[in-house]
Amino acid sequence: MDQSEMHPSRWGDPARARALPEDARGMVELVFGTDDRPAVEPVPLAPPALDAAVLAELEKVVGAGHVRTDDETRRLRTRGKSTPDLLRARSGDLSDAPDAVVRPADHDEVAAVLALAVEHHLAVVPFGGGTSVTGGLVARREGFAGVFSLDLVRMKRLISVDHTSMTAVLEPGLRGPEAEELLAAEGVTIGHYPQSWEYASIGGFAATRSSGQSSAGYGRFDALVVGLTVATPRGRLDLGTAPANAAGPDLRQLFLGSEGAFGVITAVTVRVRRRPKVTAYEGWRWPSFADGAAALRTLAQSGLMPTVLRLSDEAETALNLADPGAIGGAAATGCLMITGYEGEPAAVEAKRAAVTAVLSGLGGTAAGTAPGEKWSSGRFDAPYLRDSMLDAGVLVETLETATFWSNVERLYADVKAALTGALGDPAIVLCHISHVYETGCSLYFTVAAKEADDPLAQWQVAKAAASDAMIAAGATITHHHAVGTDHKPWFAREIGPLGVSVLRAVKADLDPTGILNPGVLVP
Ligand SMILES: Cc1cc2nc3c(=O)[nH]c(=O)nc-3n(C[C@H](O)[C@H](O)[C@H](O)COP(=O)(O)OP(=O)(O)OC[C@H]3O[C@@H](n4cnc5c(N)ncnc54)[C@H](O)[C@@H]3O)c2cc1C
Repeated sequence: MDQSEMHPSRWGDPARARALPEDARGMVELVFGTDDRPAVEPVPLAPPALDAAVLAELEKVVGAGHVRTDDETRRLRTRGKSTPDLLRARSGDLSDAPDAVVRPADHDEVAAVLALAVEHHLAVVPFGGGTSVTGGLVARREGFAGVFSLDLVRMKRLISVDHTSMTAVLEPGLRGPEAEELLAAEGVTIGHYPQSWEYASIGGFAATRSSGQSSAGYGRFDALVVGLTVATPRGRLDLGTAPANAAGPDLRQLFLGSEGAFGVITAVTVRVRRRPKVTAYEGWRWPSFADGAAALRTLAQSGLMPTVLRLSDEAETALNLADPGAIGGAAATGCLMITGYEGEPAAVEAKRAAVTAVLSGLGGTAAGTAPGEKWSSGRFDAPYLRDSMLDAGVLVETLETATFWSNVERLYADVKAALTGALGDPAIVLCHISHVYETGCSLYFTVAAKEADDPLAQWQVAKAAASDAMIAAGATITHHHAVGTDHKPWFAREIGPLGVSVLRAVKADLDPTGILNPGVLVP
């Protein structure tokens, strides 16, 4: 396996996989009791359903060696990285594997591959980084002659940088670090760092409307997109011709969040910023989650947004995700907020001073840079820990939602109660505010529970209860994980029958034979 590929049933760089540290294992044993789950050997895949003549036609378009049907490659393009995806793979079930993996080199090859898919009625699953956590890579097979993964791994060019307008055009297959490395050579950055950044791709960020850990300062990915090029079965679209316009509804919005169901994004023009000269991350302590949330709201509504802004609830703070030892108290009570600043030294100092004055005035206790630096250095570690917990028989998963400030307290209480009620004892439910706006914020929940005999069913019950609670509270089913297949029933409730009908009409127009990611996004 290529070292840059993730294992089918684990997260991330295989070289960083590790067992639970002894002290953590002791704690897990105390709370849940451990029940080591040995890895299951992957079962052989069903032979690919595509016949040799079709494969030869695809190969004629993308070149020799770029249509793969071997088990190893197909396994690596099976599903995404939600806990249910990992649990299925851990049990040896890779039954959603595509029949083939097709790797086009540019927009024209993508368009030609789509034409062949229409002709032979093959389902196409665009694949960026493979980090979907909502079943976005599990296309419906029924009714199609076969399914192939349209792997964008060869489309990794930085096409251009406009230093005057501060925009850059990137191909979709660039992973987060690859894109930032190319942009760093130009002295600029996108500033988009989701926790999946090591593997997720530029096209995937746009197709799922991703949001990164520095969203308070840089903005959500969809807010950074200036232009898109899209290949659809009906032809090509080049969208985004000015910094702003009044030329009717913004068609870019049809493709941001379209999860491969309306077209394949083949180039993304993003707004870029000059690389920050200084960074500073620090911690603040609040007596309660409500106090900390009120402080976030005040900052956002005063136009005083640091680059990073997040707040752990009491449980998350106490569980040391936020390191209570470092926030200065003997008692691990209260809540930890992280504020981060990036930019030019003078601007950072001015913002930091202004934010400090507001937070001190609201009753926050400055906890210094130690908790901020700890957060910054460990910000990509949690998904590796999930694997170690699953190895020990502990179910770990996350989910997220968002609402307006006036509804945050209710949403928090309702989702937490739904998860706790469904998972029973012993279960741990943690939450943090991960993204902040003038009008509201997102809530990001992490749960850990002792695995039942059927952990998939156990999680489905809890996830459904939480999702019902979100919709009942008038919140969204997803702030940044997208819809995929998993969220569809709740997404349909969120947008209502007319909203569903509009999406179906768009799909029918752009993809009349329904080959693009069938079963994903559109209810
Ligand atoms: C451990 C972990 C942490 C995460 N943290 C975050 C986070 O902090 N913030 C966040 O927003 N998300 C997060 N996610 C979710 C996920 O990383 C995002 O949804 C990400 O944007 C997906 O990008 P990708 O390149 O991996 O897309 P993929 O998983 O490859 O694809 C996602 C969907 O988009 C479609 N697609 C991909 N590329 C294209 C394209 N070029 N054109 C059209 N359709 C396409 C796919 O068919 C699929 O439906 C996390 C996931 C994991 C596993």
